[in-house]
Amino acid sequence: MSPAADLPTKVGVLVVGAGPTGLGAATRLHQHGLKDWLIIDQAEEAGGLACTDITPEGFLFDMGGHVIFSHYQYFDDLIDTAIGKGDAAWNTLERVSYVWMKNRWVAYPFQNNISALPKEDQIKCLNGLTEAKVANTIAQGKPANFDEWIMRVMGPGIADLFMRPYNFKVWAVPPKEMQCEWLGERVATVDVNRAISNVINNKEDAGWGPNAVFRFPLEGGTGAIWKGVSRLLPKDKQRYGKDMTISGIDKDSKTAILANGHKIQYDAMISTMPLDIVCRWLGKPQWADGLTHSSSHIIGIGVRGQCPHGLKCWLYFPEDDCPFYRTTVFSHYAKKNCPADDVKLPTILRGDCQEVTDAQAETGPYWSLMFEISESSYKPVNQGKIKLAGGEWSELVKETIIGALNTKLISAEDQIVSIYHRRLEHGYPTPSVGREAVLVEALPWLREQGIWSRGRFGSYRYEVGNQDHSLMLGVECADNVLFGTKELTLNHPNVVNAKKNMELLYGPTTFLGAHTATNGHLNN
Ligand SMILES: Cc1cc2nc3c(=O)[nH]c(=O)nc-3n(C[C@H](O)[C@H](O)[C@H](O)COP(=O)(O)OP(=O)(O)OC[C@H]3O[C@@H](n4cnc5c(N)ncnc54)[C@H](O)[C@@H]3O)c2cc1C
Repeated sequence: MSPAADLPTKVGVLVVGAGPTGLGAATRLHQHGLKDWLIIDQAEEAGGLACTDITPEGFLFDMGGHVIFSHYQYFDDLIDTAIGKGDAAWNTLERVSYVWMKNRWVAYPFQNNISALPKEDQIKCLNGLTEAKVANTIAQGKPANFDEWIMRVMGPGIADLFMRPYNFKVWAVPPKEMQCEWLGERVATVDVNRAISNVINNKEDAGWGPNAVFRFPLEGGTGAIWKGVSRLLPKDKQRYGKDMTISGIDKDSKTAILANGHKIQYDAMISTMPLDIVCRWLGKPQWADGLTHSSSHIIGIGVRGQCPHGLKCWLYFPEDDCPFYRTTVFSHYAKKNCPADDVKLPTILRGDCQEVTDAQAETGPYWSLMFEISESSYKPVNQGKIKLAGGEWSELVKETIIGALNTKLISAEDQIVSIYHRRLEHGYPTPSVGREAVLVEALPWLREQGIWSRGRFGSYRYEVGNQDHSLMLGVECADNVLFGTKELTLNHPNVVNAKKNMELLYGPTTFLGAHTATNGHLNN
């Protein structure tokens, strides 16, 4: 039976999208014992941007480096329930992170490790830091944009060497067009005395923030978490696949229109679709135009041999010797991110991009790298098709492999056995200068139409756009739909990011029974 064949034509709460936000909403509705809901997604399975792909050769790749730094007890308990607790389900990794610059590795955070740079750069950075400290004490008001923030906090030395080029590579938007309210805990600020003393003592100082370790699923990548969460929900309330693509909304009759012509009426819709798209559907192009996003290319390579990168987890690349801004040593996260050592695979390409023909299949061991490249109208990437490794790939793939060689991530003789590439149209919601003006109008207006738009792109707030935040945007939204309760994560990013949030807990189903939800939106 096709997923659309037994679709209802009317439902109490329609959740659109089974990424972390949609799954959070569905989990909460189920936890409250609500019966009249449905979650749909155009993808073949749950996970959204937090899914994991597998290459034909058996290498796993997440959609970019996904690291869990949880701010919520609810999130911790749910994901433990979904895939299990402790060492039987999780790898615990020490956060080891470097910046590749001037042909060497500089430990992260950059500003505490200036001693690794050539002397003239050390001087520029330290002079800039002290200048910034003095200027900042007399500066009036908040910085007007991210570029001003960088100059005020880091000074011109670090700004020009690292912060400006790196941030343009990540965001694909000039820092002057971005606001700085989103920063919170995201960017390590500067302790000038510590920076100076590290230079004088020639000390490597990689300590930053509270999360020195993080955990990663032993099997199945990040996607395993969300498949596990979806398994906790009733199967008959979930529909996946192309047939579930929504192509429009009739707000007056509260109807979602599917691309295959099917219609679903709802009392409330929790939408995790990109807000810019929904605004265009509903005749509000001015709001869509006021939101900015960048696209992400995720490129992976599987390589035969022993991984040469030790305990390194993720690495930053501000310079123009490679197209990527970040690389994750993905094989280090879990042994099962690569095929087993005894799996035989032929080499398809050398590290220097020389073609290999007629290679015999040989055994491993294997290791893998996952690269992230941003794209926008400010920063187009080369997507022309070329023949490579016996297949057809985007030119960006070749540029990435050459970049990996330039930055000493791989060597010329390395044997590449698998290549992966996926482009995500919506990769990063840009904290643009004009974003809040749109959100404060668009989200309440949609809410008046019975649409709760939430999630990384549903509510467009990058500062609460990680997996833990997204899950809770969904959970808190479900409570708001049912009971009208306040949504802390959506409305107070700085509050939720400053603490471990224990107020809402995941637990057994509580059953609303035959209740009418208190804000009168729904009957059970
Ligand atoms: C490059 C990158 C790196 C990241 N790194 C981290 C990290 O280190 N740590 C971390 O915690 N998080 C990270 N994230 C964020 C994480 O992926 C998101 O928090 C999370 O996936 C957002 O969940 P969501 O449900 O809001 O949106 P999505 O995951 O985008 O889910 C939306 C769902 O809606 C579906 N959908 C969209 N339109 C339609 C339609 N028209 N019809 C039907 N279905 C539709 C989509 O198929 C999708 O499944 C990263 C993300 C990216 C892209």
